[in-house]
Amino acid sequence: MSLPRTLAFDFDGILCNGLREYFQTSWRTYRRVWPTSTDQPPANLAEQFYLLRPVIETGWEMPVLLRAILKGFSAKQVFADWFSIRDRIVADEDLNTKDLGQRVDSARDQWITEDLDNWLALHDFYPGVLDQLQQLSVQKMEWVIISTKESRFIHTLLTDAGVDIGRDRIYGKDCRRPKYETLRLLKPQLPGPIWFVEDRLPALEQVKQQPDLAEIGLFLGEWGYNTERDRKLATQDSRIHGLTLQQCCNSLSGWIA
Ligand SMILES: [Mg+2]
Repeated sequence: MSLPRTLAFDFDGILCNGLREYFQTSWRTYRRVWPTSTDQPPANLAEQFYLLRPVIETGWEMPVLLRAILKGFSAKQVFADWFSIRDRIVADEDLNTKDLGQRVDSARDQWITEDLDNWLALHDFYPGVLDQLQQLSVQKMEWVIISTKESRFIHTLLTDAGVDIGRDRIYGKDCRRPKYETLRLLKPQLPGPIWFVEDRLPALEQVKQQPDLAEIGLFLGEWGYNTERDRKLATQDSRIHGLTLQQCCNSLSGWIA
């Protein structure tokens, strides 16, 4: 496998750890959908949410995950069967997923407007990743971000961290297409090979199913929101490479062990 000329990074769980913010935004959204008597979340709800974060694909699921926890679904049940638990809650409670997604984004927008510093402070870039992005830029390596988060939130966070990236290199939720479609779109536009770093195994597996994307290098970021099981599956997969944070932040030639 030859070294890449373009890197495509996922954002949440690869570049940035926003677990504390996800929880707070989810709780704010939850309270608008299911009014609670107190503005304080129940004890341990945050810890349970952090543990179950790997099941989440898109923002609208976050308040539904809180609903599932508060309805008494165990971590084991959620890990085993998240899609059916999620879909059942949506159907039983007559929810609209598009509306939920908008509520999550508007809770975030409102928070940013009211207290930007407070919002920014709940995000941590993983150690070493910002330096690596700067290095890649110095080396004239192309890099882009492909995420299910709205591009504007990513741009705000990177700008605050001192990373200069054009909005046109952030492919967020507002692009309204799955990640493999974004890679398909980028393939003729950017120098290849492209390597894609992502923390959700299903997103990598979807790319793998596209015959025309066979040359894209696939890396599972092991420090992100995935499970022991995901990491084990990746090691058994001939196409998908496990990647540690240390590898990610060092020379690209060391990415494939
Ligand atoms: Mg991610």
